[in-house]
Formats: sequence, C-alpha cells, structure tokens
Amino acid sequence: MSYIGRFAPSPSGPLHFGSLVAAFGSYFQAKSQHGQWLVRIEDLDPPREMPGASSLILKTLESYGLHWDKSVTYQSERHQRYQEQIENWLVSGLAYYCQCTRKQIKQNGGFYPGTCRHKNLNVPNDCSVRLHVQEPIEYFIDQKHGLINIPHQLAQEDFIIKRRDGLFAYNLAVVLDDIDQGVTEVVRGADLIEPTGRQINLYRYLNHPEVKYVHLPLAVDLHGNKLSKQNHAPAVNIHSPKETLIQVMIFLGFELPNDFKFASVEQMIEWGCQHWSLQQLPDSLSIIPNH
Ligand code: GLU
Repeated sequence: MSYIGRFAPSPSGPLHFGSLVAAFGSYFQAKSQHGQWLVRIEDLDPPREMPGASSLILKTLESYGLHWDKSVTYQSERHQRYQEQIENWLVSGLAYYCQCTRKQIKQNGGFYPGTCRHKNLNVPNDCSVRLHVQEPIEYFIDQKHGLINIPHQLAQEDFIIKRRDGLFAYNLAVVLDDIDQGVTEVVRGADLIEPTGRQINLYRYLNHPEVKYVHLPLAVDLHGNKLSKQNHAPAVNIHSPKETLIQVMIFLGFELPNDFKFASVEQMIEWGCQHWSLQQLPDSLSIIPNH
C-alpha cells in the first residue's frame, strides 16, 4: 500500500513554530517514503476561527517550500458525511443523546459515568451525542515511542461525537476524513496522544483498520505549556523562512551540515527528505525550542 500522510491545521490563527514542526515532520515522513502529503483545514469550530487564517496558513506553507498533493480539503464542507454517520450509530444504538451539562460532569469529578446511556432520549436540539464505548482502547503503538498506555477512566468514557451546541467533535471528523482520504499514517504533535484511543475506537466502530501513528515532540515554553495560538505563540515569519526552517529541523533531530545555511529552502527540504528517519527524533515528548 502506498503511503499517504497529511497535515491538518485548525485555522484558529497563523502557523506558529509548533505547527510548523508538525507540518515538516509529517512532510519528511511522507516524502522520505515517496508518499503523498495532503493538507486538510480543520475548520470545525467557527467561533474559534480567525478570519483569513486558512489562506494565511496555506500561503505560509508555500513560502516554506511545502507543496501538497491533491486539493486542500475543508471540514466545513463535510458536515453531511459526519451527520449521516452519527445518525447510523443512533439508529443502531452505538451512539445516544446525552443531556448532561459540563457543570454536572465537573461535579462528578470531570468524568462522564454514562448517565444518559439507557435513557433513550430523543431531543436532538438540546443534547450532545455520545459514543457508547463497549471495548475501551487501553493502549496503542506509536511508531516512534512504542506502547503508549491510556488511563483507564479516560479509555472507558462514552465520549462526545457531536456537541450540544451542534458542532461536530474533532475525534469523529478526523477519523472519517482520514479514512475517506486514504491516509495510512498520522504524524502530529504529542498533545494529540490523549485522544488517540478514542480515535482508534471510532475506527473499530467503522470496521476500518486504524492508521499508524507517530507523535512528534511538542514545542513548549519555559513553563511547559504548549506553544499554541491560545497562548499567543508568535506567528512564524512568512518572508524569511530559512532561519525558522533550520530551527524546525534541529528540533526534529537532524544533524545539519556546517554549510547548511547557504542552501536554498528547496535544497534544505530535499536534503531533509533524504536524511530523515524516525530514530533521529528526540525521545522526549516535549521540548523547549532553542534550549
Ligand atoms: N487540527 C488539529 C490541530 O490543529 C490536528 C489534528 C490531527 O493532526 O489529528 O491541533
């Protein structure tokens, strides 16, 4: 089977250093195997979007020399697919409506104990939809890190596939999209280790073998917080990509030749594709850039 990888940014702001790490990590992993590299804009959550971010992200990828295969896909155009799948599961009893509020779940220690599982509620407008988890996924294999255990309580929880406010849940969308796009391996930041078990659960319910997973070290600040749009990580410079690209490559564990800075962006990427291997990646799951 030929390799298909992808980069799937959410357009909540411009690309920052951490998002470029995921873009280049997934690109090198795909292209070192002569695979395809797709880009999908995960615009599932309009209130958290920044106007113009989608096109800025694509422009930034281009200015960093990253060219995607096939056309860019947008989750906002796939609602019908998500809704149909939810309805199938509601009919077959694998999913159910839930009325519990966030506050109630918080009062229960933050975990949802299955309160509405057997209530047979049918009030689509004021309910979330949860998947009835029958066989919890307690671990998975990461291609870099090996066996990763998932906390028992988290694995067991009937999780949300459609939110009470009508928005589709990230886990559902990401799995349906990766299946429909033929993705064979997901390379992304270590902050997404936690939902991986839930995503594997969805693959099982869809009778589809799950993708392989590689989780890249997360870029964090001095306090260990993820560099993210939410905590105002600076946007990467779109006009002079070389310096940042070198930092991203060092972060990804490359040992760069001394004269590397004289190469063009295209030459750097070509060199990266030739020299990339998962072994070079640091073992740590979070790293402070430039330290
Ligand atoms: N859209 C997610 C994010 O920007 C990434 C999803 C994924 O790679 O599975 O964090």
